[in-house]
Amino acid sequence: MRYLLYLLIAAVCVCAVLFLVAVINAIRIKAKPVDKKSAAPFTKEDEDKYARILSEMIKVPTVSAAEGDDLTEFRKLQAVLKESFPLIHEKLERTDLDGNLLYRWKGKNSDADGILLMGHQDVVPASEKGWDHPPFGGEIADGRVYGRGAMDCKCTVMAEFAAVEELLEEGFEPERDVYLSTSVNEEISGGGAEKIVEYLKNNGIRLAAVMDEGGAIVENAMPGMKALTAAAGVAEKGTCNIKFIARSKGGHSSTPPSNTPFARLAKFICRIEKKNPFEKKFNEPVKVMFRHVAPYLSFPFRLLLGNLWFFKPLIGYAMPKISGEARAFLSATIVFTMSSGSKAPNVIPDEAYVIANIRPSINQSAGECIEILRQIAKKYDIETEVMFESSASDVTDYKSEEFRYLGDCVAEVFPEMCFTPYYCTGGTDCRKYNTVSENCIRFTPIRMDDQQLAAMHAVNENISTDAVAAGVKFYKYYIRNHK
Ligand SMILES: [Zn+2]
Repeated sequence: MRYLLYLLIAAVCVCAVLFLVAVINAIRIKAKPVDKKSAAPFTKEDEDKYARILSEMIKVPTVSAAEGDDLTEFRKLQAVLKESFPLIHEKLERTDLDGNLLYRWKGKNSDADGILLMGHQDVVPASEKGWDHPPFGGEIADGRVYGRGAMDCKCTVMAEFAAVEELLEEGFEPERDVYLSTSVNEEISGGGAEKIVEYLKNNGIRLAAVMDEGGAIVENAMPGMKALTAAAGVAEKGTCNIKFIARSKGGHSSTPPSNTPFARLAKFICRIEKKNPFEKKFNEPVKVMFRHVAPYLSFPFRLLLGNLWFFKPLIGYAMPKISGEARAFLSATIVFTMSSGSKAPNVIPDEAYVIANIRPSINQSAGECIEILRQIAKKYDIETEVMFESSASDVTDYKSEEFRYLGDCVAEVFPEMCFTPYYCTGGTDCRKYNTVSENCIRFTPIRMDDQQLAAMHAVNENISTDAVAAGVKFYKYYIRNHK
């Protein structure tokens, strides 16, 4: 008994010492205030000019084009690009792959791997309802440009093109080849980006770095965060669509047997909702992200995230309860999105199904996730049919020269910000470039506040004109100083 007591006292003492070490560490890692000006400022004239171009781009309703669809609206958008960026269209080599565009700006050393900046021309649809400014009006008001695509992601395309155009105006010649690429069907996971990647591969083109949307500059990146966070995605999750089918003999609804198809599907859904079937893990991008943001957090959060070695069980328990995004960082996710049964209210379905969207994480492949679900579904006499599957992307090394260079650029252009590798819970075209580059980075250097992020794919999508101007100057700095 006495030994047990000693053991308990010893355990408490060890915990107290470790806690003290964690507190000292949290005090020590606090970020120091930076008193430095941006190395790439912009003027009010620049800001207004970029806003006008973006507005013209938004006015063209380029809703995603599937293979073989009419490209009229995309051709109109490309005419806006040609008119707004004449030097690009005069001096760069332009390849048109069914509306998906690739521009090549030859550098001094074309033997070296090039750099590629990308974005998509297409947008998700928008009905007029609920918008304060019409979705395809391109209105500029209160220092913002409003409309579908303002942030996702015509602002990115505009900023990349404007940066190259200005550098051409200044007579700048890049060290290595610089590419611009834009697809017409990112939002529907179409094959546009694949066509460009195929072209690059067929022409033996390797890329030192690829930069796409996916991460951005955000406010309130997490609880306790005071600084703006420049989050650069080093990996993104996969996506699968799976149909779960329950069958029966059907029959009249007046004499129902037990365990009809929807009852089984409901039990299955409740089982999945109750206990996450996927592995929960602090994978490398999440750990690295916590390490990078911790110095900028207020004390209690800095204490927790800055000492993952001590608080991991606590954080692992709390994260899934904080928000959907926090949960998505730690494991694959599943959500049921569609369902169907019989054709009439008084007919028991002989076949009913639900469709789920799964986002495999980097530590569990699509195949593994599907197998886990298949086994659970079987217990409820439910069949599993895979409609689409793709695993998570490769992980870009945050210690690579290219990623470090990006961090250096952020430190010069946005010195007050916290720069961090980020794990994208959504999907982008960027993953498709993994076969031609080891450094696929998801980062739009444009600031987006909480309201703007919430308006993505929703009503009142908008972007701040000063944030777009800062983004143009960032891309310029990035290209100009890339060795
Ligand atoms: Zn997008």
